[in-house]
Amino acid sequence: MENLKKRVQQLKKKRPGYKEILSFYQKIREEQEKTKPFLKIKSIPLKKEWKDLLAKEGFSLLEKKDFPLDINATLALFRSLCEIGKKATPRMAEQVEKIEEAIAHKKIDLNKAFTGGFEEGKIEKITGGEFALDKKVLFFLIQESIRPSIEAGTKKLHNELNAEAWLKGICPICGSLPQLSLLKETEGKRFLLCSFCGCQWRIDRVFCAFCGNKERDSSHYFYAEGEETYRIDACDKCHQYIKTIDTRNIELIDPVLEDLATLHLDLLATQKGYKRPAPNPWTP
Ligand SMILES: [Zn+2]
Ligand SMILES: [Zn+2]
Repeated sequence: MENLKKRVQQLKKKRPGYKEILSFYQKIREEQEKTKPFLKIKSIPLKKEWKDLLAKEGFSLLEKKDFPLDINATLALFRSLCEIGKKATPRMAEQVEKIEEAIAHKKIDLNKAFTGGFEEGKIEKITGGEFALDKKVLFFLIQESIRPSIEAGTKKLHNELNAEAWLKGICPICGSLPQLSLLKETEGKRFLLCSFCGCQWRIDRVFCAFCGNKERDSSHYFYAEGEETYRIDACDKCHQYIKTIDTRNIELIDPVLEDLATLHLDLLATQKGYKRPAPNPWTP
């Protein structure tokens, strides 16, 4: 946590425009860390023969809904995150109050939202479509509340797979799309980071995670001047992009933090007409 705080300070100094969002994120991470030592997560039974078969056929190990959750810890964390949200910005406060009202009136079933193998498209169902809620805020609060449980599950499963050999665009554990790509080790091996469970897996240097494009002619990247650590990898076949962090240039404490501190790159990509399939709640 000390390292995260230090990194947040560095980033705030470098990019004062991001102060508010970085403070908000830091508070959320602090709250999540507090719950971790007390989490009760059931083990995930995986028969070896199933596991091998799934890997051979190119299926991921689990569905999102199969991840074990510590429901009480998740609920408590959700409430704390709402409190943080209410103090963040007036707009966020307004949204959180609407969400709390909807929960009080049983328009949102949190248990369902946490365990339903949560996807943004399902929010309509959870909320009954009756409330004028900013879906992104609700999605974010739910996802950050379940994150400690999910990541504890991912840790247990990570030893079960060969993350260097998967080489696909979707997560080997849960089948979700990647949120970021990371360059690591001296030779710059490329990894993808799952947007749901936080798993990292190896991928080819030239490869579009979203459409499988491997051609150099239709893949390119760009970065902001003087910022070679962060770049946008764009695909001209599917017109989508992923943000890549070169972790050889920075001490990577938290990829999501770096993602939030480089929203200007998302803006650039959006202006050039590319879409981001797994956005963060602040992606333009
Ligand atoms: Zn995953
Ligand atoms: Zn593509």
